[in-house]
Amino acid sequence: MPHTPDLLIRAGRVHGREDLVDISVHGGKVTAIEPSGARPAPALDTLDAGGGLVSRAFVEPHYHPDKAYSRGLAPIGIQDPFARARAIKAGFTVADVTERAARALRLASGNGVTTLRANVDVDSVAELRGLHGVLAAREQVAHLMDVEVVAFPQEGLARDPQARSLLVEALKSGADLIGGWPNVEEGTQAQQAHVREVFDLAEQFDVDVDIHVDCMIDANEAMLEFVAAETVRRGYQGRVLASHCCGLELYDDADAARVVAAVAEARISVVVVPLNLVDGGPRGLSRPQELMQAGVVVAAGSDNMNDGWYALGTLDPLDRAQMAFLGAGFHDEGSLDTAWKLVTGQASAALGGRDGDITVGEDADLVLFDAPDRSTVLAAMPGSRTTLKRGHVVSRRNTLEVAP
Ligand SMILES: [Zn+2]
Repeated sequence: MPHTPDLLIRAGRVHGREDLVDISVHGGKVTAIEPSGARPAPALDTLDAGGGLVSRAFVEPHYHPDKAYSRGLAPIGIQDPFARARAIKAGFTVADVTERAARALRLASGNGVTTLRANVDVDSVAELRGLHGVLAAREQVAHLMDVEVVAFPQEGLARDPQARSLLVEALKSGADLIGGWPNVEEGTQAQQAHVREVFDLAEQFDVDVDIHVDCMIDANEAMLEFVAAETVRRGYQGRVLASHCCGLELYDDADAARVVAAVAEARISVVVVPLNLVDGGPRGLSRPQELMQAGVVVAAGSDNMNDGWYALGTLDPLDRAQMAFLGAGFHDEGSLDTAWKLVTGQASAALGGRDGDITVGEDADLVLFDAPDRSTVLAAMPGSRTTLKRGHVVSRRNTLEVAP
């Protein structure tokens, strides 16, 4: 016998369909998408979408919540971002990281994010305070979103000899993945050794790799090809995410084509960071179109917000989608949809989840908008949003009405 749905979302629109639809949710899953008014039986609860778009929720594939809202904690007068970020994290306590990270994750939820991957500094400066703070924040927002935690040796491995044992401790204490940043080491040999050590730890703990690669807007940053080779050597195809990859954009086309092919062969997902456009001038978006044409999963991440590395930021996936749209030169028809996928289906696939939009049988992680389609949502952002996690309304944000 058909069950009575827990929730019926009435009169919404889904991408690719002209008609208004009703969306049934039961047991946290989407159980039906039907023409509006087709279902005679009432649901336990209803939500009126008012003709607005109902989309699969956003996925944030690259963010540093340990650093959230920490810009004001920097000692005055430090210009170098590395030194500034280091000075800030020296003062981290578990309690203050928990408070700031939870605040940022709630903001992300209000923006429509229901899954987030967090890179957290684990090194001799932050020790494990950032990790424990973010793990506690994850507990606080468990009903809002799924959070995966990457243990990230921001200060390097050769440069920071204490980092290795702290990473081991982090992986034993609840970190889900191992991170890295080879370019921070001095010279190619040390950078390659950094990559090998990251994979050693990944194998030891049987975890996936989420690695910062070639983050600066500098053609001499060229570790991505080595990471791809190491991925294949270790049999880690499909288990590696590389973020930034800015050097790729600056190589000449022949070199770039070779690296893109290597990344595709290694089945590495690439998270571009549109923020690099602001940070480093009109470059640094990592050739998303070439990567996608080669079959690489490409997503867009926020990276930083109001911290030692970046003073601004909104943690709004639509900001990233807009910046990627503008920066990547997406001009052909369907480009807005491509930009949308960078923060939904592709971002999920980059984290090992499923691609695609709202689907019957999948988790009801959804966002309701007050505009009827993707292009209007993007044009009128931020707009009002209602976020559902596994079928429950968990966050709302409302646009201010300005009186004439
Ligand atoms: Zn990052």
